[in-house]
Amino acid sequence: MKYLSYLLCLICISACTAADKNTAVVKKLNEQIITLKPLHKVLGKPQPGDWLLSHKEPGQTFKQYLSIKPITAHGKRNVIYIQPIGDFTEKQKEVVKLTAEYMQHFFNLKVIINKDVPLKIIPAKAKRVHPQWGDKQILSTYVLYDVLKPKLPKDAAVSLALTASDLWPGKGWNFVFGQASLRERVGVWSMYRNGDPEINDDQFRLFLKRTIKTAVHETGHMFSIKHCTAYECTMCGSNNRNESDRRPIYACPECLAKVCYATKADAKKRYENLKQFCDKHGFKEEAKFFQLSLDKLK
Ligand SMILES: [Zn+2]
Ligand SMILES: [Zn+2]
Repeated sequence: MKYLSYLLCLICISACTAADKNTAVVKKLNEQIITLKPLHKVLGKPQPGDWLLSHKEPGQTFKQYLSIKPITAHGKRNVIYIQPIGDFTEKQKEVVKLTAEYMQHFFNLKVIINKDVPLKIIPAKAKRVHPQWGDKQILSTYVLYDVLKPKLPKDAAVSLALTASDLWPGKGWNFVFGQASLRERVGVWSMYRNGDPEINDDQFRLFLKRTIKTAVHETGHMFSIKHCTAYECTMCGSNNRNESDRRPIYACPECLAKVCYATKADAKKRYENLKQFCDKHGFKEEAKFFQLSLDKLK
């Protein structure tokens, strides 16, 4: 009996310590939200054709995020897997590597790019030609639940497929830039509508920025982050290319707190790495923004 109470006591101490640690983490993240807020632009009224005009979404504060017990990268699940599907040009492959690097800094997690799998793994029932536009498209939900989910690695925080083909999510939709599950740790994104990286350096940078944007957006969803309706943020929904191009490749303070909570990222370290990446690859505005964010946190 004595042994049992000793054991129970130990369990209690360990549980209390973990709870205290979590409370301290949440407190720090809430303080950072307040500190960083002045650097961020509040989301304006949606323009014609924008996502929020056709999708009534309530948004998600950091507090609301915590209340849904989000998917996190804690424990053994701490790797982001990228699964390329189909063919890629050399330039596109370069963009995949750079995107993986950005994701590594953004989510503070190791990113592994799997060996490519051929497009033929997608059966005819999950392919179509768009009835008006003629684009060849892949059913995004097939990729999520029939390709990725059954083979989710044991150490995968999330698994994200990438294709140069166009995606559509089913009846009633024309296309999607990407799609992800908020609870199942799977997602997919496409480079199809991102331009042509072969033209020149500027077009390569634009292609890279668009690819990064969708990658971090969909990965954010896989960590249970819903669309942002509060700020100009990488987690805002996008209905079209123009709207997507208006959104940044960084997260607003509320969504940053969610990313840091889900991945145990240190906000300062993260900004330092992202700034270095942006300096190296000619994203001047973003590098400036990450430096300002760093200055605020000092
Ligand atoms: Zn989304
Ligand atoms: Zn946000």
